[in-house]
Amino acid sequence: MRIAPGIHRIGDNSMINAYLVDEAGEVTIIDAGVSGYYRDIDRELAAMGRTPADVRALVLTHGHSDHIGFAERLRSERGIPVSVHEADAALARGEVPNPAKGFGHVKLGPLLGFLWFTMLHGGLRMPKLQQVETFGDGATLDVPGSPQVILTPGHTPGSAALHVASLGALFVGDAFATYAVTTGARGPQVAPFTADAAQAVNSLTRLENISADHVLPGHGDPWTGGVHEAVRQIRESQSKSSER
Ligand SMILES: [Zn+2]
Ligand SMILES: [Zn+2]
Repeated sequence: MRIAPGIHRIGDNSMINAYLVDEAGEVTIIDAGVSGYYRDIDRELAAMGRTPADVRALVLTHGHSDHIGFAERLRSERGIPVSVHEADAALARGEVPNPAKGFGHVKLGPLLGFLWFTMLHGGLRMPKLQQVETFGDGATLDVPGSPQVILTPGHTPGSAALHVASLGALFVGDAFATYAVTTGARGPQVAPFTADAAQAVNSLTRLENISADHVLPGHGDPWTGGVHEAVRQIRESQSKSSER
């Protein structure tokens, strides 16, 4: 699905998103969704006018299983390098457990919808990465789009947003979401399965002054109301929920 010039998304219903970024005919994939998305990669490349040979890199926003779905297969079968922030490398390799505990607040219908969707798309078989490269906070990655890394710990220790300034795009991973897979709530909010919500909200300070026309989360629709406004709404809803 085309999101904007040079940006496509795999994940038609926006429940779980992976993105393709095109710069001068070369492609970076951002996040790997669920493993069943593997078969959608080439179709989406074709829709962009690109081929599998144009893919240069897969960059992960963090190490959660619903973001590394096809990563190991892409790496091992096509030799595409995969990278993640150094603080999430062990999670992506399956060496440490998910730092998030439990489901938090849930509504049964949306949660079952998410689990069913995940299962249908190979979510019960998400191979961990055998090898993953790492990057640090502030790095500008030498891949198409030259994403700049902004570390936003809280959701996971190594959650990172990726700013592709040339396309006016900020890929936030699960630093925040615009759809909560566990409750069905829409709009900017702390993402479900966040290990440390207070830290995640604090980390938004690192994003709020970035100007981006397209704010692209791991779960939910693109946000076009500006990063600053998204952060304001998240802070407001967090302070209300802590008053309750
Ligand atoms: Zn996550
Ligand atoms: Zn996620």
